[in-house]
Amino acid sequence: MATLKEDPSRLNLGSKIRFACRPGVKCFNTCCRDVNIFLTPNDVYRMKQRLNMASTEFLEKYTLMFISKATGLPVVLLKMRDDNKECHFLTSQGCSIYSDRPWSCRMYPFSLNTEDETYSIIADQETCLGFKEDREWYLEDWLADQGVLYQREIDRLFNDALGRLEFPKDKILNSQISRMVYMAAYDLDAFRRFVFESRFLKIFNIAPPIIEKVKTDDEELARLAFLWLKFGMSDKNALEIRPEVLQQQGDLVQNPE
Ligand code: SF4
Ligand code: SF4
Repeated sequence: MATLKEDPSRLNLGSKIRFACRPGVKCFNTCCRDVNIFLTPNDVYRMKQRLNMASTEFLEKYTLMFISKATGLPVVLLKMRDDNKECHFLTSQGCSIYSDRPWSCRMYPFSLNTEDETYSIIADQETCLGFKEDREWYLEDWLADQGVLYQREIDRLFNDALGRLEFPKDKILNSQISRMVYMAAYDLDAFRRFVFESRFLKIFNIAPPIIEKVKTDDEELARLAFLWLKFGMSDKNALEIRPEVLQQQGDLVQNPE
């Protein structure tokens, strides 16, 4: 049996490819319909900024959420239109949010095999006519051109927050925790309300300049959201609990009455 490294269908950054997806290719726009596009936290962040919408409104209008049976983590899918199953952002000229399109859209027709950092072609090369174009690239250059080699800090922090979880051992069984992960990872505006309208700031010791910033700055808010996730999921040192809260907890443990 061929090992991953010997598998000739696996590409690496130095592989040469012949591919171009552009207006004028006969199949142009056909793959933006009836397709499952999973969104990362950064995808939601970029798209809602691009559309000048609050995250709660964006998620309600353009996405579907479900809880993964394997991990208990929330998964967010881009909704297609009800009438013709096309993506809401598709126009006859192509994607109307092209520079902020999701990571999966940038990657297509390739996919990343995270276990060995190789890439595979996931489209049928007979019907994806981009493979019949003359343009030649090293895969690395094509990926850079699509903007996929640059993973924004938001997704890196999210992966870091959940990075220590091992499935199925750490599968989330409590649906309330799954909802909290969803809010912190995808619904930043709801997380902002949570920070300012719950006991969050009474429990965690957050520096005043950060508190001021997260009122309006989404990137700073995402950093705080992922630290909170990390605190809850894998690392109690990710956020500092206020000394008076720790004192109260100690008193309760020693004197539960
Ligand atoms: S977001 Fe843009 S690239 Fe992605 S499916 Fe929709 S129209 Fe196509
Ligand atoms: S099928 Fe291939 S060439 Fe055609 S639009 Fe999709 S990715 Fe581009």
